[in-house]
Amino acid sequence: MCVSCGCGSHDVTISGAHGEHRHHAHGHDHSHVHGDEHHHHGEGAGTDATRTVEIERGILAKNDAYAARNRARLNAGGIVALNLLAGPGAGKTTLLVETLRILGARVPAAVIEGDQQTANDAERIRATGTPAVQINTGKGCHLDAHMVGHALDELPLPPGGLLFIENVGNLVCPAAFDLGEEVRVTLLSVTEGEDKPLKYPDIFQSADLVLLTKTDLLPHLDVDIDAMERNIARINPVAPVLHVSTKTGGIGLAAWLGWLGDIRRRRLDGLAAAAESRAKSLRAAAEALP
Ligand code: MG
Repeated sequence: MCVSCGCGSHDVTISGAHGEHRHHAHGHDHSHVHGDEHHHHGEGAGTDATRTVEIERGILAKNDAYAARNRARLNAGGIVALNLLAGPGAGKTTLLVETLRILGARVPAAVIEGDQQTANDAERIRATGTPAVQINTGKGCHLDAHMVGHALDELPLPPGGLLFIENVGNLVCPAAFDLGEEVRVTLLSVTEGEDKPLKYPDIFQSADLVLLTKTDLLPHLDVDIDAMERNIARINPVAPVLHVSTKTGGIGLAAWLGWLGDIRRRRLDGLAAAAESRAKSLRAAAEALP
């Protein structure tokens, strides 16, 4: 169940290269937030409102515990996980397919795809030669850390590998759920309007990078791209904003790949430093008497 909209997440399917299994969300809170009623927080809703807040806290605490487990597992394996967030149709899968094509065999990568239904996106990813697991969330409107933990079982990645997690297309609920990722990338297509960052601030506020997609369309649109960027900066003044398009030979893809390369290099440098420090203490132990 989602803390933002009260949707269900009890009928999840995870499909990898080894077939599919239905996943009953035994790790989730099975309580309900009375989806048919309105809860006006702080307006005297009394015990209902209190109970809603308690359930929200419980769900997020459980999710955070699973996220911490995922993060520890990914860190131990030296894997860089990216949570890709956007509304439906912003171009997440198209950008991913193009990114994986360019990275080719040079950078090990894997993908977890989140959608309510269909394995279309995982199939598009697999066509690039990259392993992909599809999570179908049924009525759920976001991925959570418990589902991602199960998907990780299907995707062995070497140290320094990039794990892209494409969240369910939704500008609201995915923002509330930590998946154990290292970085969050929020995509907004230039067709969506300048004021989306102000209307849906959470998903922009938690981003480490914002990608403005489909910029090849700008000459055909009335959108004020400077206002769009100002609105992003009002919500999140620190995240860099890159303009990208996969059309007309690719716009801004070098900057996006450079950003990816930087976070991967940081991770590999960290692993190397830890290995050197371990080697040093082993040598010191070897030299100690007797
Ligand atoms: Mg997609």
